[in-house]
Amino acid sequence: MDIAVIGSNMVDLVSYIDQMPKEGETLEALSFSIGCGGKGANQAVAAAKLGAKVMMLTKVGEDLFADNTIRNLNEYGVDTEFVSKVPGTCSGVAPIFVDKQSQNRILIIPGANKHLLPVDIDAAAEKLKKCSLFVLQMEIPLPTIYYAIEFGNKHGIPVILNPAPASRELDLNYVQKCEFFVPNETELEIITGMPVETEQQIEAAAMSLIQKGIKNVIVTMGKRGALWLTEEQVHHVEAYKVNAIDTTGAGDAFIGCFAHVYVKNRDVLMSIKMASAFAALSVTGRGTQTSYPDVATYEQFLQ
Ligand code: ATP
Repeated sequence: MDIAVIGSNMVDLVSYIDQMPKEGETLEALSFSIGCGGKGANQAVAAAKLGAKVMMLTKVGEDLFADNTIRNLNEYGVDTEFVSKVPGTCSGVAPIFVDKQSQNRILIIPGANKHLLPVDIDAAAEKLKKCSLFVLQMEIPLPTIYYAIEFGNKHGIPVILNPAPASRELDLNYVQKCEFFVPNETELEIITGMPVETEQQIEAAAMSLIQKGIKNVIVTMGKRGALWLTEEQVHHVEAYKVNAIDTTGAGDAFIGCFAHVYVKNRDVLMSIKMASAFAALSVTGRGTQTSYPDVATYEQFLQ
């Protein structure tokens, strides 16, 4: 295995509507779609689509979404040996309402994702030890994230932590033990408590994390690109200029591709540049996983 994604899966239940119903009102929606998502699953699929050998450690519920999620991961080539069902629990779901102005309202029901525990890392230990990189996000319990970081450190496996969704409770003592910390601007603001409106402010906020002993901070900034900081240097990687249609899941595309390229060549700057290209392509299509390009499209874009 190249990469272990220890994280979440969700099912997006998307209703397209004219307007939001008022209290007590019942309205007919325009259309509906179901999509596989969750930050962990998105990142696993992004890396697998590029040819990485990816395993996923995640939990699904005991409901009709569970098998669909497992099948979807398998179809993209993600190893699901350690995707297990939690009896009596629902799968993670996200009812999403999108109105005609493309404004959305989203509910997250974590469901089985709350049941991914340190003991599950122990259960998968033999397989996890053979991975070259761990990829973590924050849609699973914090103790599990901390345990995975410790496990990675113990076995010499570098860890990428994407602090999404951000929590002020995140203990930076554990973040110091990660090789890469990859927030977007909003997550950076929540974690540092510093303003992030201008690029100077973003740099100062990210630098405050470097000063706290975090090794590599990579801030993704949408169409403004990405900023990579270490103790020695600051590097700005421009975003590719594309016709953006739907930016959901761009951050996950970036991380999945970054993980894939980094495992192959350990060149951080190259990995950021390649991830920027993959994420840029992803915003030119609708959806999350469905918008991630396949290898052929991606390679053509790079030429
Ligand atoms: P999401 O939460 O929707 O997954 P995010 O906020 O975590 O996204 P972003 O910072 O928006 O992530 O995007 C990640 C990367 O994707 C950026 O660093 C950039 O390289 C690329 N990207 C995002 N939006 C655009 C865009 N409009 N044009 C080109 N590249 C983009």
